Amino acid sequence: MDQTSYIEISKSAYKHNIKYLRKIVGKDVRISSVVKGNAYGHGVEMIVPLAEKAKINHFSVFSASEALDVFKVASPKSDIMIMGYLSDEQLEWAIENEIEFYVFDIERLELALALAKRIGKPARIHLEAETGFHRTGIEYDLLPQVVGLLKDNIAHFKFEGLCTHYAGAESITNFYRVMKQIQEYRRFVRYFNRHELKPNYRHTAGSAATLTYSQSVMDMVRVGIAQYGFWPSQETYIYQFKRNQAKGSDLKRVITWKSRVMTIKEVDSGDFVGYGTSYMANKKVKIAIVPVGYANGFSRSLSNTGRVLIRGKRVPVVGTVTMNTMSVNVTDIPNVQPGDEVVLVGKQKRLSISVASFSEMSNQLNYQTLARLPGNIPRYIVH
Ligand SMILES: *Cc1c(COP(=O)(O)O)cnc(C)c1O
Repeated sequence: MDQTSYIEISKSAYKHNIKYLRKIVGKDVRISSVVKGNAYGHGVEMIVPLAEKAKINHFSVFSASEALDVFKVASPKSDIMIMGYLSDEQLEWAIENEIEFYVFDIERLELALALAKRIGKPARIHLEAETGFHRTGIEYDLLPQVVGLLKDNIAHFKFEGLCTHYAGAESITNFYRVMKQIQEYRRFVRYFNRHELKPNYRHTAGSAATLTYSQSVMDMVRVGIAQYGFWPSQETYIYQFKRNQAKGSDLKRVITWKSRVMTIKEVDSGDFVGYGTSYMANKKVKIAIVPVGYANGFSRSLSNTGRVLIRGKRVPVVGTVTMNTMSVNVTDIPNVQPGDEVVLVGKQKRLSISVASFSEMSNQLNYQTLARLPGNIPRYIVH
Protein backbone atom coordinates (compact mmCIF):
# COMPACT_ATOMS: atom_id res chain seq x y z
CA MET A 1 0.00 0.00 0.00
CA ASP A 2 1.62 3.25 -1.04
CA GLN A 3 -1.07 5.40 0.54
CA THR A 4 0.24 7.24 3.53
CA SER A 5 -3.05 7.76 5.32
CA TYR A 6 -6.50 6.21 5.44
CA ILE A 7 -10.03 7.09 6.42
CA GLU A 8 -12.42 5.10 8.59
CA ILE A 9 -16.16 5.61 8.19
CA SER A 10 -18.28 4.68 11.20
CA LYS A 11 -21.43 2.81 10.27
CA SER A 12 -22.95 3.18 13.74
CA ALA A 13 -22.28 6.94 13.88
CA TYR A 14 -23.93 7.43 10.49
CA LYS A 15 -26.97 5.39 11.52
CA HIS A 16 -27.22 7.38 14.73
CA ASN A 17 -27.17 10.71 12.85
CA ILE A 18 -29.94 9.66 10.48
CA LYS A 19 -32.03 8.53 13.44
CA TYR A 20 -31.40 11.88 15.11
CA LEU A 21 -32.45 13.79 11.99
CA ARG A 22 -35.43 11.52 11.44
CA LYS A 23 -36.68 12.40 14.92
CA ILE A 24 -36.47 16.09 14.09
CA VAL A 25 -38.22 15.99 10.70
CA GLY A 26 -40.76 13.27 11.51
CA LYS A 27 -41.51 10.12 9.58
CA ASP A 28 -43.29 11.66 6.61
CA VAL A 29 -40.57 14.01 5.41
CA ARG A 30 -38.19 12.66 2.82
CA ILE A 31 -34.51 13.08 3.65
CA SER A 32 -32.23 13.70 0.69
CA SER A 33 -28.65 12.83 1.47
CA VAL A 34 -26.39 15.54 0.03
CA VAL A 35 -23.28 13.77 -1.27
CA LYS A 36 -21.63 16.49 -3.36
CA GLY A 37 -17.86 16.96 -2.93
CA ASN A 38 -17.36 13.16 -2.77
CA ALA A 39 -19.83 13.01 0.14
CA TYR A 40 -18.00 15.83 1.91
CA GLY A 41 -14.79 13.86 1.60
CA HIS A 42 -16.26 10.73 3.18
CA GLY A 43 -16.46 8.90 -0.18
CA VAL A 44 -19.61 8.50 -2.25
CA GLU A 45 -19.04 4.74 -2.53
CA MET A 46 -19.01 4.52 1.28
CA ILE A 47 -21.90 6.81 2.14
CA VAL A 48 -24.49 5.90 -0.49
CA PRO A 49 -24.78 2.24 0.61
CA LEU A 50 -24.86 3.28 4.29
CA ALA A 51 -27.60 5.79 3.55
CA GLU A 52 -29.64 3.24 1.65
CA LYS A 53 -29.38 0.88 4.62
CA ALA A 54 -30.77 3.72 6.72
CA LYS A 55 -33.74 3.85 4.30
CA ILE A 56 -32.63 6.96 2.44
CA ASN A 57 -33.37 6.78 -1.27
CA HIS A 58 -32.72 10.31 -2.51
CA PHE A 59 -29.28 11.78 -3.20
CA SER A 60 -28.30 15.35 -4.05
CA VAL A 61 -25.17 16.40 -5.90
CA PHE A 62 -23.88 19.51 -7.64
CA SER A 63 -22.88 18.28 -11.08
CA ALA A 64 -23.44 15.57 -13.67
CA SER A 65 -20.10 13.90 -12.97
CA GLU A 66 -21.01 13.66 -9.30
CA ALA A 67 -24.39 12.26 -10.29
CA LEU A 68 -22.62 9.60 -12.35
CA ASP A 69 -20.53 8.61 -9.32
CA VAL A 70 -23.72 8.12 -7.31
CA PHE A 71 -25.47 6.39 -10.21
CA LYS A 72 -22.71 3.74 -10.26
CA VAL A 73 -23.12 2.76 -6.62
CA ALA A 74 -26.77 3.54 -5.82
CA SER A 75 -29.66 1.15 -5.98
CA PRO A 76 -31.71 1.62 -9.19
CA LYS A 77 -34.63 2.48 -6.95
CA SER A 78 -32.91 5.54 -5.52
CA ASP A 79 -33.38 9.01 -6.97
CA ILE A 80 -30.51 11.34 -7.83
CA MET A 81 -30.85 15.11 -8.06
CA ILE A 82 -28.40 17.58 -9.61
CA MET A 83 -28.61 20.96 -7.88
CA GLY A 84 -26.06 22.78 -10.01
CA TYR A 85 -24.21 22.56 -13.28
CA LEU A 86 -25.12 20.53 -16.36
CA SER A 87 -23.84 21.05 -19.88
CA ASP A 88 -26.35 20.64 -22.70
CA GLU A 89 -25.08 17.12 -23.47
CA GLN A 90 -25.28 16.21 -19.82
CA LEU A 91 -28.85 17.47 -19.67
CA GLU A 92 -29.72 14.91 -22.31
CA TRP A 93 -27.94 12.19 -20.30
CA ALA A 94 -29.85 13.22 -17.19
CA ILE A 95 -33.23 13.01 -18.89
CA GLU A 96 -32.43 9.66 -20.47
CA ASN A 97 -31.36 8.23 -17.13
CA GLU A 98 -34.24 9.74 -15.16
CA ILE A 99 -31.92 11.90 -13.09
CA GLU A 100 -33.65 14.86 -11.46
CA PHE A 101 -32.20 18.33 -11.87
CA TYR A 102 -32.67 21.94 -10.88
CA VAL A 103 -34.02 24.43 -13.39
CA PHE A 104 -33.08 28.00 -12.53
CA ASP A 105 -33.59 29.89 -15.78
CA ILE A 106 -35.89 29.96 -18.78
CA GLU A 107 -33.20 28.78 -21.19
CA ARG A 108 -32.63 25.58 -19.31
CA LEU A 109 -36.37 25.01 -18.97
CA GLU A 110 -36.88 25.40 -22.71
CA LEU A 111 -33.98 23.13 -23.53
CA ALA A 112 -35.03 20.49 -21.00
CA LEU A 113 -38.56 20.40 -22.36
CA ALA A 114 -37.35 20.24 -25.97
CA LEU A 115 -34.92 17.42 -25.20
CA ALA A 116 -37.53 15.51 -23.22
CA LYS A 117 -39.92 15.75 -26.15
CA ARG A 118 -37.28 14.45 -28.55
CA ILE A 119 -36.11 11.64 -26.27
CA GLY A 120 -39.65 10.68 -25.36
CA LYS A 121 -39.07 10.67 -21.62
CA PRO A 122 -40.27 13.31 -19.15
CA ALA A 123 -37.66 15.63 -17.65
CA ARG A 124 -37.73 15.35 -13.86
CA ILE A 125 -37.44 18.99 -12.92
CA HIS A 126 -37.04 20.89 -9.67
CA LEU A 127 -37.80 24.56 -10.20
CA GLU A 128 -35.55 26.72 -8.09
CA ALA A 129 -37.18 29.88 -6.81
CA GLU A 130 -35.20 33.10 -6.36
CA THR A 131 -36.22 34.11 -2.85
CA GLY A 132 -33.32 36.31 -1.82
CA PHE A 133 -30.16 34.19 -1.95
CA HIS A 134 -29.27 35.83 -5.27
CA ARG A 135 -27.16 33.03 -6.65
CA THR A 136 -29.37 30.88 -8.87
CA GLY A 137 -33.16 30.78 -9.07
CA ILE A 138 -36.08 31.91 -11.20
CA GLU A 139 -37.45 35.38 -10.50
CA TYR A 140 -41.09 35.63 -9.47
CA ASP A 141 -41.79 37.95 -12.41
CA LEU A 142 -40.94 35.17 -14.84
CA LEU A 143 -43.57 32.78 -13.52
CA PRO A 144 -46.20 33.53 -16.20
CA GLN A 145 -43.65 32.53 -18.82
CA VAL A 146 -42.64 29.42 -16.84
CA VAL A 147 -46.22 28.32 -16.36
CA GLY A 148 -46.93 28.92 -20.05
CA LEU A 149 -44.03 26.69 -21.05
CA LEU A 150 -45.04 24.00 -18.61
CA LYS A 151 -48.67 23.98 -19.74
CA ASP A 152 -47.60 23.70 -23.37
CA ASN A 153 -45.43 20.68 -22.55
CA ILE A 154 -47.47 18.93 -19.92
CA ALA A 155 -46.44 15.43 -21.10
CA HIS A 156 -42.74 16.19 -21.19
CA PHE A 157 -41.89 16.85 -17.57
CA LYS A 158 -42.52 15.72 -14.03
CA PHE A 159 -42.78 18.57 -11.56
CA GLU A 160 -40.66 16.84 -8.94
CA GLY A 161 -39.86 19.83 -6.83
CA LEU A 162 -40.17 23.50 -6.04
CA CYS A 163 -37.10 24.52 -4.09
CA THR A 164 -34.94 27.33 -2.78
CA HIS A 165 -31.83 27.74 -0.67
CA TYR A 166 -31.35 29.97 2.38
CA ALA A 167 -28.65 32.57 2.69
CA GLY A 168 -27.11 31.51 5.97
CA ALA A 169 -29.67 29.72 8.15
CA GLU A 170 -26.81 28.73 10.47
CA SER A 171 -26.50 32.23 11.91
CA ILE A 172 -29.05 34.33 13.78
CA THR A 173 -27.57 37.37 12.02
CA ASN A 174 -29.51 36.27 8.97
CA PHE A 175 -32.81 35.68 10.78
CA TYR A 176 -34.82 38.37 8.98
CA ARG A 177 -33.34 37.52 5.61
CA VAL A 178 -34.26 33.84 6.06
CA MET A 179 -37.77 34.68 7.29
CA LYS A 180 -38.28 36.88 4.24
CA GLN A 181 -37.08 34.05 2.02
CA ILE A 182 -39.65 31.70 3.57
CA GLN A 183 -42.41 34.24 2.86
CA GLU A 184 -41.19 34.78 -0.65
CA TYR A 185 -41.04 31.02 -1.24
CA ARG A 186 -44.68 30.72 -0.14
CA ARG A 187 -45.64 33.23 -2.83
CA PHE A 188 -44.16 30.87 -5.41
CA VAL A 189 -46.09 27.94 -3.94
CA ARG A 190 -49.35 29.90 -4.11
CA TYR A 191 -48.67 30.93 -7.69
CA PHE A 192 -48.21 27.34 -8.83
CA ASN A 193 -51.24 26.23 -6.81
CA ARG A 194 -53.38 28.83 -8.55
CA HIS A 195 -52.25 27.43 -11.87
CA GLU A 196 -52.86 23.85 -10.85
CA LEU A 197 -49.25 22.86 -11.03
CA LYS A 198 -48.34 21.05 -7.87
CA PRO A 199 -44.75 20.01 -7.15
CA ASN A 200 -44.25 16.52 -5.69
CA TYR A 201 -41.82 17.91 -3.14
CA ARG A 202 -41.50 21.35 -1.65
CA HIS A 203 -37.96 21.51 -0.29
CA THR A 204 -35.95 24.41 1.04
CA ALA A 205 -33.92 23.29 4.04
CA GLY A 206 -30.29 22.23 4.28
CA SER A 207 -28.87 21.05 7.62
CA ALA A 208 -29.01 24.40 9.42
CA ALA A 209 -32.59 25.23 8.46
CA THR A 210 -33.70 21.67 9.23
CA LEU A 211 -32.24 22.00 12.71
CA THR A 212 -33.46 25.48 13.53
CA TYR A 213 -36.41 26.59 11.35
CA SER A 214 -39.13 23.96 11.68
CA GLN A 215 -41.33 25.80 9.18
CA SER A 216 -38.67 25.26 6.50
CA VAL A 217 -39.07 21.49 6.77
CA MET A 218 -41.70 20.83 4.14
CA ASP A 219 -41.94 17.62 2.08
CA MET A 220 -38.20 16.99 1.82
CA VAL A 221 -34.96 18.25 3.39
CA ARG A 222 -31.52 18.26 1.78
CA VAL A 223 -29.13 17.29 4.52
CA GLY A 224 -25.40 17.50 3.98
CA ILE A 225 -23.03 18.27 6.84
CA ALA A 226 -25.29 17.07 9.69
CA GLN A 227 -25.54 13.49 8.45
CA TYR A 228 -21.76 13.30 8.71
CA GLY A 229 -21.98 14.36 12.33
CA PHE A 230 -20.94 18.01 12.04
CA TRP A 231 -23.00 20.95 13.22
CA PRO A 232 -23.42 23.70 10.61
CA SER A 233 -22.44 26.19 13.34
CA GLN A 234 -22.04 26.55 17.08
CA GLU A 235 -25.38 28.38 17.19
CA THR A 236 -27.19 25.49 15.57
CA TYR A 237 -25.63 23.13 18.08
CA ILE A 238 -26.62 25.27 21.05
CA TYR A 239 -30.18 25.61 19.78
CA GLN A 240 -30.62 21.85 19.44
CA PHE A 241 -28.73 21.15 22.65
CA LYS A 242 -31.14 23.32 24.62
CA ARG A 243 -34.13 21.63 23.07
CA ASN A 244 -32.84 18.08 23.38
CA GLN A 245 -31.01 18.33 26.66
CA ALA A 246 -33.27 15.84 28.37
CA LYS A 247 -32.64 13.24 25.71
CA GLY A 248 -28.88 13.83 25.87
CA SER A 249 -28.40 13.12 22.20
CA ASP A 250 -25.90 14.65 19.84
CA LEU A 251 -24.61 14.10 16.34
CA LYS A 252 -21.64 11.75 16.02
CA ARG A 253 -18.65 12.16 13.75
CA VAL A 254 -18.59 9.59 11.00
CA ILE A 255 -15.03 10.16 9.81
CA THR A 256 -11.66 9.30 11.32
CA TRP A 257 -8.52 10.11 9.37
CA LYS A 258 -5.36 8.27 10.33
CA SER A 259 -1.73 7.90 9.40
CA ARG A 260 1.41 6.47 11.02
CA VAL A 261 4.66 7.85 12.33
CA MET A 262 7.24 7.57 9.55
CA THR A 263 10.41 8.32 11.51
CA ILE A 264 11.61 10.11 14.61
CA LYS A 265 14.52 12.43 15.17
CA GLU A 266 16.05 14.53 17.89
CA VAL A 267 16.62 18.21 17.24
CA ASP A 268 18.98 20.28 19.33
CA SER A 269 18.15 23.56 20.92
CA GLY A 270 18.61 26.36 18.40
CA ASP A 271 18.01 24.18 15.34
CA PHE A 272 15.22 24.83 12.86
CA VAL A 273 12.67 22.23 11.84
CA GLY A 274 11.80 21.87 8.16
CA TYR A 275 11.92 24.60 5.52
CA GLY A 276 12.92 28.07 6.51
CA THR A 277 12.85 29.46 9.99
CA SER A 278 9.22 29.22 11.05
CA TYR A 279 10.05 26.87 13.92
CA MET A 280 13.19 26.88 16.03
CA ALA A 281 13.61 24.38 18.88
CA ASN A 282 14.14 26.29 22.13
CA LYS A 283 15.32 23.13 23.90
CA LYS A 284 16.24 19.64 22.81
CA VAL A 285 13.08 18.22 21.21
CA LYS A 286 11.93 14.96 19.68
CA ILE A 287 10.16 15.30 16.34
CA ALA A 288 8.02 12.70 14.59
CA ILE A 289 7.58 12.92 10.83
CA VAL A 290 4.10 12.04 9.55
CA PRO A 291 3.79 11.31 5.82
CA VAL A 292 0.81 13.57 5.18
CA GLY A 293 1.11 17.07 3.75
CA TYR A 294 -0.90 19.58 1.81
CA ALA A 295 -0.98 17.37 -1.30
CA ASN A 296 -2.75 14.81 0.89
CA GLY A 297 -5.42 17.16 2.19
CA PHE A 298 -3.69 18.54 5.29
CA SER A 299 -3.77 22.29 4.81
CA ARG A 300 -0.53 24.21 4.70
CA SER A 301 -2.21 26.84 6.87
CA LEU A 302 -1.95 24.37 9.75
CA SER A 303 1.82 24.93 9.84
CA ASN A 304 2.72 25.60 13.51
CA THR A 305 -0.99 25.52 14.48
CA GLY A 306 -2.46 22.06 13.76
CA ARG A 307 -2.74 19.25 16.29
CA VAL A 308 -2.70 15.47 15.90
CA LEU A 309 -3.12 12.55 18.34
CA ILE A 310 -0.40 9.99 19.04
CA ARG A 311 -0.60 7.41 21.86
CA GLY A 312 -3.65 9.17 23.22
CA LYS A 313 -1.89 12.53 23.52
CA ARG A 314 -2.48 15.74 21.63
CA VAL A 315 0.71 17.01 19.99
CA PRO A 316 1.39 20.16 17.93
CA VAL A 317 2.47 20.47 14.32
CA VAL A 318 5.80 22.31 14.24
CA GLY A 319 7.31 24.08 11.27
CA THR A 320 5.70 24.24 7.87
CA VAL A 321 3.47 21.54 6.46
CA THR A 322 5.16 20.43 3.25
CA MET A 323 3.67 18.79 0.20
CA ASN A 324 3.87 15.28 1.65
CA THR A 325 4.94 15.57 5.28
CA MET A 326 4.39 17.34 8.54
CA SER A 327 6.52 17.37 11.67
CA VAL A 328 4.99 17.06 15.13
CA ASN A 329 6.57 17.63 18.50
CA VAL A 330 6.55 14.33 20.45
CA THR A 331 9.03 15.25 23.17
CA ASP A 332 6.44 14.45 25.84
CA ILE A 333 5.61 10.98 24.56
CA PRO A 334 8.19 8.61 26.03
CA ASN A 335 7.83 5.46 23.93
CA VAL A 336 6.80 6.87 20.59
CA GLN A 337 7.95 4.70 17.68
CA PRO A 338 7.84 4.60 13.92
CA GLY A 339 4.60 2.89 12.90
CA ASP A 340 2.58 4.39 15.78
CA GLU A 341 -0.92 5.40 14.81
CA VAL A 342 -1.46 9.13 14.19
CA VAL A 343 -5.00 10.50 14.24
CA LEU A 344 -5.41 13.60 12.09
CA VAL A 345 -9.18 13.85 12.52
CA GLY A 346 -11.32 11.86 14.94
CA LYS A 347 -10.83 9.99 18.20
CA GLN A 348 -7.94 8.23 19.84
CA LYS A 349 -8.38 6.95 23.39
CA ARG A 350 -10.17 9.75 25.22
CA LEU A 351 -9.18 12.69 23.04
CA SER A 352 -10.45 13.78 19.69
CA ILE A 353 -9.46 16.19 16.95
CA SER A 354 -12.41 17.78 15.26
CA VAL A 355 -12.13 19.17 11.79
CA ALA A 356 -13.27 22.49 13.17
CA SER A 357 -10.46 22.74 15.68
CA PHE A 358 -7.97 21.79 13.07
CA SER A 359 -9.33 24.27 10.63
CA GLU A 360 -9.01 27.30 12.82
CA MET A 361 -12.28 27.02 14.72
CA SER A 362 -14.36 28.22 11.84
CA ASN A 363 -17.30 26.00 10.98
CA GLN A 364 -17.30 27.10 7.37
CA LEU A 365 -13.89 25.50 7.13
CA ASN A 366 -15.33 22.14 8.13
CA TYR A 367 -16.95 22.05 4.74
CA GLN A 368 -13.80 23.13 2.97
CA THR A 369 -11.44 20.80 4.77
CA LEU A 370 -13.70 17.79 4.28
CA ALA A 371 -14.27 18.54 0.62
CA ARG A 372 -10.53 18.75 0.06
CA LEU A 373 -9.76 15.27 1.37
CA PRO A 374 -8.31 13.56 -1.70
CA GLY A 375 -10.45 10.92 -3.35
CA ASN A 376 -7.59 8.43 -3.48
CA ILE A 377 -7.11 8.02 0.27
CA PRO A 378 -8.27 4.47 1.07
CA ARG A 379 -11.57 4.43 2.94
CA TYR A 380 -12.89 1.64 5.14
CA ILE A 381 -16.16 1.04 6.93
CA VAL A 382 -15.78 0.32 10.63
CA HIS A 383 -18.36 -0.28 13.35
C1 LIG B 1 -24.80 21.88 -0.15
C2 LIG B 1 -26.24 22.12 -0.24
C3 LIG B 1 -27.10 21.64 0.75
C4 LIG B 1 -26.62 20.94 2.00
O1 LIG B 1 -26.04 21.85 2.89
P1 LIG B 1 -25.57 21.43 4.36
O2 LIG B 1 -25.36 22.70 5.07
O3 LIG B 1 -24.30 20.68 4.20
O4 LIG B 1 -26.64 20.57 4.93
C5 LIG B 1 -28.46 21.85 0.56
N1 LIG B 1 -28.93 22.50 -0.52
C6 LIG B 1 -28.12 22.99 -1.48
C7 LIG B 1 -28.70 23.71 -2.65
C8 LIG B 1 -26.76 22.83 -1.36
O5 LIG B 1 -25.95 23.32 -2.31
